[in-house]
Amino acid sequence: MPEGVPPSGADATSETLVAVAKGPASLSPSRAGDFMQCPLLYRFRVIDRLPEKPSEAATRGTLVHAVLERLFDAPAAERTAPRAKALIPGQWDRLRESRPELLELFADDADGERLARWLTEAERLVERWFTLEDPTRLEPAERELFVEAELDSGLRLRGIIDRVDVAPTGEVRIVDYKTGKAPRPEYAEGALFQMKFYALVVWRLKKVVPRRLQLVYLGSGDVLTYDPVVADLERVERKLLALWEAIRLATETGDWRPRPTKLCGWCDHRAHCPEFGGTPPPYPLPLTRAT
Ligand code: SF4
Repeated sequence: MPEGVPPSGADATSETLVAVAKGPASLSPSRAGDFMQCPLLYRFRVIDRLPEKPSEAATRGTLVHAVLERLFDAPAAERTAPRAKALIPGQWDRLRESRPELLELFADDADGERLARWLTEAERLVERWFTLEDPTRLEPAERELFVEAELDSGLRLRGIIDRVDVAPTGEVRIVDYKTGKAPRPEYAEGALFQMKFYALVVWRLKKVVPRRLQLVYLGSGDVLTYDPVVADLERVERKLLALWEAIRLATETGDWRPRPTKLCGWCDHRAHCPEFGGTPPPYPLPLTRAT
């Protein structure tokens, strides 16, 4: 799914807060990633539900994902780059209709130049996909598949998988599109975490370990693959359980530590972050455990 998409909605109802106060009932790769990046960021997004401005990059990611998904509606022979590019204006209209807040992205772009550049970049990303995969030879079993599975511990894992391919032999390949650039090799493990998360969910749901995990980086024209084994997925499960416990502890104590990194440059919440001289809003949940 598109990178950097925050949870929707900024209004935490009392019912939601009561549920959240018991600790998270479920985890998605994005929210697990938030907590690993910075516990305070997780709090701002999941508990305080502070609003975030839509970004051009994340919105372009959503648009490109929609185009690649819809292209498979066409018969195989017609899945060409010109056809995919022709889908962009309609998908952009659809996106703006479903998320009116996106209108503010180009509100100050009087001559339309910035929007034109942004759309051209979306076209470039779509075109690059055709150098990495051949959709005329693919028949996805699933696109934008919502998956959810409960672990023995009670933790529910959920997420949306961009594409699932199933070979005639029954082997499963999980594919995720990224509109950014491939990470340097030393950071590949972080990128694969999300894919192993999905593989664990699929394994739990279908009792089959996916044969291949594939990350398609449209920003740099790279494809990163990994063939997981059971031990990988068991490791990810242990890691998620530890993460779940850490989130539960922070929820009960209110101890959400900021963890500054260079990613703070993209954080919408610096005004509330002590690392940048800000003050978090009052903690909205009852504290049930001392730090
Ligand atoms: S600015 Fe950095 S440290 Fe502060 S909440 Fe955001 S990610 Fe965390």
